[in-house]
Amino acid sequence: MLSATKTCSLIKERRISTTEALEEVLGRIRDREEDLHCYITLDEEGARQQAKLIQSRIDDGSLKGPLAGAVVAVKDNICVRDLPATCGSKMLAGFIPPYDATVTEKLRDAGCIIIGKTNMDEFAMGSTCENSYFGPTKNPYDTSRVTGGSSGGSAAAVAAGEAMIALGSDTGGSIRLPAACCGVVGLKPTYGRVSRYGLIAYASGLDQIGPMGRSVEDCGEMLSLLSGADSRDATSRQWEAVDTGAALGRGVKGLTVGLAEDYLSLCPDEEAKNAVLEAAEKLRDAGAAVEHFSLGYEKYVVPIYYILADAQASSNLERYDGIKYGYRTPFEEGQDFGQLMARSRGEGFGGEVKRRILVGSFVLSAGWYDAYYKKALAAQALLRRCFDEAFSKYDLILMPAAPSVAPKLGVYKDDIIGAYRGDVFTVTANLAQLPAMSIPAGVNHDGLPLAVQLMADRFREDLLLAAGAELEKRGGHENDEGI
Ligand code: GLN
Repeated sequence: MLSATKTCSLIKERRISTTEALEEVLGRIRDREEDLHCYITLDEEGARQQAKLIQSRIDDGSLKGPLAGAVVAVKDNICVRDLPATCGSKMLAGFIPPYDATVTEKLRDAGCIIIGKTNMDEFAMGSTCENSYFGPTKNPYDTSRVTGGSSGGSAAAVAAGEAMIALGSDTGGSIRLPAACCGVVGLKPTYGRVSRYGLIAYASGLDQIGPMGRSVEDCGEMLSLLSGADSRDATSRQWEAVDTGAALGRGVKGLTVGLAEDYLSLCPDEEAKNAVLEAAEKLRDAGAAVEHFSLGYEKYVVPIYYILADAQASSNLERYDGIKYGYRTPFEEGQDFGQLMARSRGEGFGGEVKRRILVGSFVLSAGWYDAYYKKALAAQALLRRCFDEAFSKYDLILMPAAPSVAPKLGVYKDDIIGAYRGDVFTVTANLAQLPAMSIPAGVNHDGLPLAVQLMADRFREDLLLAAGAELEKRGGHENDEGI
């Protein structure tokens, strides 16, 4: 199976139709979905209708974009009108949004076929996709392993050919980590580049929607499509659009790359570490100047992230009270308002979500606000300064994307802190509002995907695409076949 942009070129050249391309994806779904469980909702019939309509718009010349005809999977925390949006939670099971997210409107305008909603950790809280109320998604490379989270359904769907490309959301790594575990490219844009309108909030100051694809080009084209200011999201920004074609052809000659040694040393897996060193070599061979440096704050970023993210989550999730909307506990005679709310929340939320609401409420409470939340905000500002300093010297920062290959299912069941610790490589980009990309870097001795991560300064996604394309060309495989 080809990448999304390559398939769309064939459609434009009239060598295949949108319906034929869609049927190939549906065939993959028939073969693999039962084992993998990438989707919470599949809309086969809707997709078939969209394919016909899009074909006619391509035929009459009104649709010309690089992703016209692409079959896209959308993470289940992004609203698609008339399709359920569960957020992987019992709390929202049965919720059908009557409106489209801004990114969904953009997909429709560009002629993408929305095939369904993908599985995820409940409210995007997790690193394995095992926290979903609907059960875990399995890794297409080895179904005894997790996909990484929280956008695990999107990553697995793209890797297995159950979609050509997908949307995920990234609050602390949820695009990049599952992309790394499933051997696909995952791009978290600069905070503000893509509208969050219609994205069900986890931690609003960190959340960002982005693409997951089988090639750097696919992610670049999808990024261009999604970008832009939106009057419905006050934090969105109009910025110079990324010229994907130019970025992909730029190469890395003359660029400076800083390899964050302090973060690399935290990587417990030798093969994952070597993948980063090899990527540095490849970039050097391609004409970049690579230097080792210490970014700083590596011991603090996970605590900072979990204080800020949980605090924001506790506030965002307050709205699910069983009254306004969301799951409501069955009626009981004599039950007062407080009991109704407590029971609805108790029954509707899973364990991890409750843990985070408790931690978040605690760090925001009058007695502890200064000691935790305020301190974490100050530390976040210091981390941003470390990045400012680094980007005054380097165009790109290179570091691991994940601590290891995809772990076995259940490994983190009783090791919550272990799972949190694994986020050390990804949360920095969210805390500093930077764009970052996870790029496949071959496979380990067991044939499981390895990956590396690149970061750039705010709104410099073009540099990520340039370096990502270079690494892809030099053997960090383009997953054209799917697995
Ligand atoms: N693993 C992180 C968490 O559980 C990141 C999640 C995300 O990016 N949505 O918070």
